[in-house]
Amino acid sequence: SRTLRIGLLPGDGIGREVIPAGRKVLEALPKSLGLDFSFVHLDAGFDEFKKNGVALPEKTVETLKKECDGALFGAVSSPSTPTKGYSSPIVGLRKRLDLYANVRPVKSVVPTAAFPDPIDLVIVRENTEDLYVKEEKTYDGPDGKVAEAIKRISERASSRIATMAGEIATRRQRVRDTTGGDAAKKALVTITHKSNVLSQTDGLFRTTARAALEQARFKDAGVKIEEQIVDSMVYKLFRQPSAYDVIVAPNLYGDILSDGAAALVGSLGLVPSANVGDGFAMGEPCHGSAPDIEGQNIANPIATLRSVALMLEFLGEEAAAAKIYQAVDANLAEGKLLSPDMGGKAKTTEVTEDILRRL
Ligand code: NAD
Ligand code: MN
Repeated sequence: SRTLRIGLLPGDGIGREVIPAGRKVLEALPKSLGLDFSFVHLDAGFDEFKKNGVALPEKTVETLKKECDGALFGAVSSPSTPTKGYSSPIVGLRKRLDLYANVRPVKSVVPTAAFPDPIDLVIVRENTEDLYVKEEKTYDGPDGKVAEAIKRISERASSRIATMAGEIATRRQRVRDTTGGDAAKKALVTITHKSNVLSQTDGLFRTTARAALEQARFKDAGVKIEEQIVDSMVYKLFRQPSAYDVIVAPNLYGDILSDGAAALVGSLGLVPSANVGDGFAMGEPCHGSAPDIEGQNIANPIATLRSVALMLEFLGEEAAAAKIYQAVDANLAEGKLLSPDMGGKAKTTEVTEDILRRL
């Protein structure tokens, strides 16, 4: 059997309520899967910063690098005003561990009146460059202050993110073929860009991504390639989300598209993500620390439980991931034990227990 060592970083607020649910689901996986887990608790977040002056202690980074196969990150609060010495631990972790992809699946289990067709798509966002290299400057010009920012796109980063998108599309098709998912859905990667205006930066992303996706192994797996200009992509995504499978985008467009797409399925409490590098994956619910509901045991744990499954997928444990996805979907489909954000009355721990029972 395989033992995976998982770093637990609950962070702030409801992170401390949902990460324990994530741990429970790993511990409750059937033994027949041949998986064991060991856990190490690691500090990070704004409370940690207030206590010890650093939001991301060196010990946390070192332990993740040296001891862990994967990690679960809850959420962190940000100071409401710029605070000297504070920088976001999640941004730091992405850099230090070279987690170059942010992967965000958006899936509907119960169709809504607005979107009767099932939504099941994944946004694969490049996580290291584009405008987020944060190389900005401000200077005085003849018409007053001018601010500029560098938008950096490289062949290496564009190629590896598109390759990951191709691998995800391949895997999703294999899962549909073997478990009989949505038969109408076909493997498709949509490259999102604005190269009609930004011919060099987005032009490089577009051509590099296309070249990476034209690899024989993706063609053989039946992965189709499509391109969309980002603004019309937003329109189409909100008109007909069921038409999409895997969407790959540079950092900024991916950030905006993925928060927007989360709105398609109702609650922030449902949407997972993973930060992925070579040989490491960190699951992270998309929501924040939710101070308005903290400490009441009413946070929806599903975003975290799906993030646990996503982490396992990237660690090569597809069967274990599938178990968790199915248990979550069954809870949502039955609709009896739902948290308040879903219109129910169940506590965090009750939703978790219901999902554990279904494993
Ligand atoms: P938020 O995601 O924390 O909350 C937005 C709204 O959604 C709130 O009403 C909250 O109660 C609700 N919500 C969020 N998660 C939920 C869940 N699991 N179950 C039920 N309801 C849920 O965003 P915010 O209020 O804008 O930010 C709060 C703090 O979190 C801020 O300090 C912000 O900087 C931080 N934040 C952190 C992350 C992160 O760690 N990745 C992401 C977003 C915001
Ligand atoms: Mn964002």
